[in-house]
Amino acid sequence: MPDPVCVRCRGPLRTPEHHGAWACPEHGDVEPLHPALPPEEGHLADVASSSGVPVWMPWPMPLGWSVSGVRRAGGTGPSRGVAVSLTGAGLTARQAELVLVAEEPGVGLGASYAGLHATDPGPELADLPRDTKLTAAGHPTALWSLPVSDRAVYVGEASGLWLWVVVWPVGEWMVVHDDLHLVDARDPENRAHLAKLPTAALSPRLAG
Ligand SMILES: [Zn+2]
Repeated sequence: MPDPVCVRCRGPLRTPEHHGAWACPEHGDVEPLHPALPPEEGHLADVASSSGVPVWMPWPMPLGWSVSGVRRAGGTGPSRGVAVSLTGAGLTARQAELVLVAEEPGVGLGASYAGLHATDPGPELADLPRDTKLTAAGHPTALWSLPVSDRAVYVGEASGLWLWVVVWPVGEWMVVHDDLHLVDARDPENRAHLAKLPTAALSPRLAG
C-alpha cells in the first residue's frame, strides 16, 4: 500500500515516529489521507466499519449513477474524514462526477476536493443564502454554495459534522436537490445496500 499523503495538498508526510503526528512540510500536523479504493463491497464495508464519521451513499442511487470509489483520512483510530465518489451521466455533460465528504472540523478533506485553501468554510457562510438542500440520514439538510469556478461546491452540516458535495463539471450542479437522499453506510440497516450499489471504475478525481 502506498504511503498516506497530506489530506490538504496530497504531498508526502513525515511519519509520526519522531513527532507523534503525521506532518506536512507546508501544512504542519495533518490527518493522513490513504489511497483511494475502488468501490468493491469489501472496501466499502471496511471503510464503514472503521469510520468515526458517516460514510454517505445516495440511496436510492440516482438513475444512471454508480459508486466510483471511497477514501479515508485518519491515523490509527477511527477515520476523521471519508470521501465517496459517484460517476454518472450528466444532464449536459457526457459524464458528471460527484464527491461526498463527511469530516470533522479542521480536517480539510472536503476543502481539498473543493479546491479551497482553508480547511473549513469560513464565517462568511452565515451571510450567504442557503442554496439547496438534500436529505441526510432522514433529515432535511441545508447546503450553501461556495464560489468556485470550475466545479460546484456545496457545504452543510449533517450529524454534527461537515458534509461537502463537490460536482464536476460546474454545470451539473443540479444533481444536488431535494430528492437526493443520503444514508450512512455505517448503519447496519444500510449495510445491505452496499451489495446492491452499481459500481464504476475508480475515479481519478477521488484518487488525485
Ligand atoms: Zn500539505
